[in-house]
Amino acid sequence: MWRNKVPTKVKCFSWLVARRACSTHEKLKRRGFYIASWCSLCNETEETNNHLFLHCKVTTQLWNLCLGLTHTKWIMPGHTADLLSCWISRGGRKSKKKWWSIIPSCIWWCIWKERNSRCYDNKANSIEKVKWNCLTTFYFWCKEEGIEETAQILDFIGTL
Ligand SMILES: [Zn+2]
Repeated sequence: MWRNKVPTKVKCFSWLVARRACSTHEKLKRRGFYIASWCSLCNETEETNNHLFLHCKVTTQLWNLCLGLTHTKWIMPGHTADLLSCWISRGGRKSKKKWWSIIPSCIWWCIWKERNSRCYDNKANSIEKVKWNCLTTFYFWCKEEGIEETAQILDFIGTL
């Protein structure tokens, strides 16, 4: 994951997500802030790191979208750190799919941007737009990486 061409700030952000250290309501509460926490994506439960980045129904749609690209069956683990270790071992060296390692960072980054847009700018994109942003971000990072299957990803985006 650290060797791909995802922007450095996104790699650092992913590291924070895996360590449950990015500034979600959960972290702010741990630091003693009083917050009426609510997930701004689904409005159904409080915002925890694992909910926001793994289990929220909005985030789940992004995971399903990316797993659909690869026809991968996947059981979502409970924690972001477990996701990364499962993800890396599942991608493995055998498959040599460089783009596999890009997916978690891409989803987490897009979810965080959408969450901040809703929290601070009062602007909510539709789920279609969130998916679109995720796939186009994924496409551009794959292109940076010089990944051969990039055209397939573009075809897939074209079918949406
Ligand atoms: Zn949610």
